[in-house]
Amino acid sequence: MALELKLAQVGEEELAPEYDVVIVGAGPAAMSAAVYSARFMLRSATIGEEPGGQLTLAGVIDDYLGLPDMAAPDMIGRFRDHAGKYGVPLIMDRVEAIEDLGDSRKRVVTLGGRETVAKAVIVAIGSKRRKLGVPGEDRYNARGVSYCSVCDAPLFRGAEAVAVVGGGDSAVEGAAMLADYAKRVYLIHRRDSFRAQPINVDGLRRRRNVEFMLNSYVREIRGDTRVREIDVEDAGKGSRSTLKVDGVFIEIGFEPDTEFARRNGLGIDDGGYIKVDGWMRTTAPGVFAAGDCTSAWVGFRQIVTAVAQGAVAAYSASRYIRERWPGGR
Ligand code: NAP
Ligand code: NAP
Repeated sequence: MALELKLAQVGEEELAPEYDVVIVGAGPAAMSAAVYSARFMLRSATIGEEPGGQLTLAGVIDDYLGLPDMAAPDMIGRFRDHAGKYGVPLIMDRVEAIEDLGDSRKRVVTLGGRETVAKAVIVAIGSKRRKLGVPGEDRYNARGVSYCSVCDAPLFRGAEAVAVVGGGDSAVEGAAMLADYAKRVYLIHRRDSFRAQPINVDGLRRRRNVEFMLNSYVREIRGDTRVREIDVEDAGKGSRSTLKVDGVFIEIGFEPDTEFARRNGLGIDDGGYIKVDGWMRTTAPGVFAAGDCTSAWVGFRQIVTAVAQGAVAAYSASRYIRERWPGGR
């Protein structure tokens, strides 16, 4: 029987009492799981607060196969429309609990007081930005302190100097973008080698207005109504200096929502990511996971990897449901 395709109005639909699969999250991994679940003829819903996840913080995406130079909002629109084409609703809410009903099904309970029952759940809750934990960081948040270079770089057009902290792709790409706006960019990294892809680091080294400060730590952020200067310790030389900056971009990675995993009885790895096997199965039967929240491919977090994991999780959920409820669903 051909699958009936229809356009869902995202956010306007109500949660039905029962589904085959409930997908938790609203980023690329969740949207992909939604498309694939529908293609596997599973009745599905996604529950998440903001469509797009980390894409909402991105500018232009140029590393997704077949969609070069894609503005992030357009990419979110395409992902949403694709899930909508298959009639998968996106309920704007936050999942609090996944409870085992004892008959292999799960009750899914949201912060907004909604609840539904699912044969399988796919957790695609992403991860949160890590904080530096130095004096001044919270005080100057959004007053010069930013956690998203691609979002806020244009605000620093003509600035005398900004600092970027971190040694991963976010920091290196952020510094490259900021070098287009600010007159001087300090890249401050705690080690002397980078986690970022070498091609990105090489590109940044060629920028004349970028200064690398390695083996260095930001110890304090100071200012008046907004950021004015930072204290940086050079651990190699054992010296400390003060840099005049207009902004500090903290790009030091992400932290998984370990509490969500613990609360719902999902095993986690040493880094706090939800443990999955190669088929995106968590340690809880009937619960699958995909994207940045998982233990898979830590250190290489991409839209394409999140999307791939979402597809695999949907496939595994489909197999699980057909094995557990053969003949009828
Ligand atoms: P990341 O790869 O985890 O790197 C975080 C960086 O911050 C590391 O260099 C780390 O230092 C440093 N750091 C962590 N905690 C710190 C602290 N308390 N104080 C000072 N420095 C600290 O995070 P990310 O750069 O945000 O990237 C996340 C994922 O997204 C990665 O897989 C990345 O490849 C991907 N990504 C890809 C692209 C792209 O390909 N276009 C763009 C952005 C992000 P150590 O190295 O010493 O641990
Ligand atoms: P994600 O984009 O972080 O999405 C996770 C979503 O789940 C967020 O919308 C989050 O909302 C939501 N969520 C968290 N807890 C929830 C809960 N309890 N109930 C319901 N929703 C919840 O993660 P992803 O889909 O796994 O991965 C996206 C990938 O794209 C990442 O690998 C990232 O590195 C990549 N990326 C790459 C670029 C690039 O430049 N190439 C740019 C952007 C993203 P809240 O945020 O409100 O918690």
